[in-house]
Amino acid sequence: GGSVRFEDVHFAYDPDRQILKGITFEIPAGKTVAVVGPSGAGKSTLSRLLFRFYDVTSGRVTIDGQDIRDVTQESLRSAIGMVPQDTVLFNDSIFYNIRYGRPDATADEVREAARQARIAHFVESLPNGYDTPVGERGLKLSGGEKQRVAIARTILKSPPILILDEATSALDTNTEREIQAELDRVAEGRTTMVIAHRLSTVVNADEIIVLEKGRIAERGAHAELIEKG
Ligand code: ADP
Ligand code: ADP
Repeated sequence: GGSVRFEDVHFAYDPDRQILKGITFEIPAGKTVAVVGPSGAGKSTLSRLLFRFYDVTSGRVTIDGQDIRDVTQESLRSAIGMVPQDTVLFNDSIFYNIRYGRPDATADEVREAARQARIAHFVESLPNGYDTPVGERGLKLSGGEKQRVAIARTILKSPPILILDEATSALDTNTEREIQAELDRVAEGRTTMVIAHRLSTVVNADEIIVLEKGRIAERGAHAELIEKG
């Protein structure tokens, strides 16, 4: 399950300024749709509506045909995972940072998620140079390592729906490629909305929606859109 539909969605943060103006698209269960467009187009607003940080002004958002306004916050949060551009870690070990979002997980499950994200070697460390209880400095994580923590979180939580919001855009080219490959693996079989600036980063999407000023300007497969320029 987990198909996501935006149906004629209009949205405004302030009544006098429409941000989304009649957005309709579907992410079939298990498929990946990329939303591409310039900064300010309304891409992240789509993800905020899916989480119900805000409600649509008109139209509706559904999961498996059910209006998300009829779904509890708890089930919405457990159904949706997100990897943001910059993963913020809190001052506790990587272990607890991975377990965030699924506090019921066993230690073995957390370690297995860390192993799959290839960060098993620093799972007990503290992030970001925080002082450890014994007075040593914690790890200074690179951008790529922080995204691996976010990936481990997602593997552990295993949500049917995944949002990747510019998840590689803060990384250098080599790290971007590496993390993108990990994200592709994690997205496999999940209903995935990828938010990106550039077409070149979303080659594998089943469909690409080009958003401009709150409207869908173009849509299609990667090859079709590249052809049109
Ligand atoms: P994108 O992700 O495509 O860069 P956003 O969805 O973040 O675009 O933002 C779309 C528009 O909504 C922008 O003009 C932005 O300034 C405005 N916006 C975003 N968040 C808020 C907010 N909380 N209050 C008012 N306006 C906002
Ligand atoms: P908590 O449930 O612990 O209070 P949050 O309310 O911060 O956590 O976030 C709930 C979920 O929403 C998390 O999966 C988080 O990654 C995601 N999230 C947080 N901020 C944003 C955002 N600006 N846009 C979309 N998703 C977000």
